Amino acid sequence: MRVKCVLCDEVNQIDSYCLQAKRLRNRRIHTYMCQSCHDRIEKKTHERLNTGNFRFNRERKREHHLL
Ligand SMILES: [Zn+2]
Repeated sequence: MRVKCVLCDEVNQIDSYCLQAKRLRNRRIHTYMCQSCHDRIEKKTHERLNTGNFRFNRERKREHHLL
């Protein structure tokens, strides 16, 4: 089955019986992402994690200051 990446419009061929195809058909919306877009987003997520701008981290730092 042919699938189109939602981000870059790249068209790929995936196995019609694979889990991904099944999911795409069930949802009826195209949420397919090609491998390069998937990797790019995953990288961005990791970069965001590495900036340490998490509330969790800030709270911990503030606590440390109070002590
Ligand atoms: Zn893509």
